Amino acid sequence: MADRRKLAAGNWKMNGTAAALSEVSALAGLRRGTTCEILLCPPTTLIERMARATEGTNIAVGGQDCHWAENGAHTGDVSAEMLKDAGATYVITGHSERRADHGESDEMVRRKTEAAWAAGLAVILCVGETLSEREASNTIDIIKGQLAGSVPDQATGHNLVVAYEPVWAIGTGKVPSTDQIGEVHDVIRVQLEKRFGPGVGRSVRLLYGGSVKPANAAEIFAVENVDGALVGGASLKAPDFDGIIKALDA
Ligand code: PEP
Repeated sequence: MADRRKLAAGNWKMNGTAAALSEVSALAGLRRGTTCEILLCPPTTLIERMARATEGTNIAVGGQDCHWAENGAHTGDVSAEMLKDAGATYVITGHSERRADHGESDEMVRRKTEAAWAAGLAVILCVGETLSEREASNTIDIIKGQLAGSVPDQATGHNLVVAYEPVWAIGTGKVPSTDQIGEVHDVIRVQLEKRFGPGVGRSVRLLYGGSVKPANAAEIFAVENVDGALVGGASLKAPDFDGIIKALDA
């Protein structure tokens, strides 16, 4: 098996003002000895301050989205270069909330991912089926389609992480069975190997995301091809995120 460093990534979504930075210093204190990579993706307004607050720690900082253009007339948007300039080393693309709230298509996600790579950011690219797609037994086709349409040709194990996030599991407390997670992660691994060859295909890290908590993390991390988690709600509080990282370290 390729040597894939475990990754615990937190997505703060539209949560957090300056006061929330105290969680970051608390987390840094708790997880000093971890061998996992730790990433927090706060709202854009906090990136620069969080990057300063995490200097000298093992916590990296990322954005939650970027525009595909380098700059220009895109009111309210942020470019990959701006995220990098603020101290980010990663960005999330294709999160289901962006796909749903902002109509982001696979093509848009692909262009955003290319823009992130051009700026020197690594990408966590999200894929996942809705409940109706799962109930119609379309999960595997949806995942294959999203991968084909949104992962650019220049993927490597350094610039790409894929997160499998079933839409129906995000923020709901519902979690797929470990068999269901394993099946999708296997499909993602095989698709990456087919398209990019075994070297790259095996080196891309695959995260599971959707209601991961300290109580269910160990069971999820025991599934083959799960290299870590993308965590929403439970990344907002240091003790909760710490519990998840501890399970990943075990
Ligand atoms: C997410 O938003 O990526 C996510 C997985 O959220 P939660 O952990 O809250 O389900």
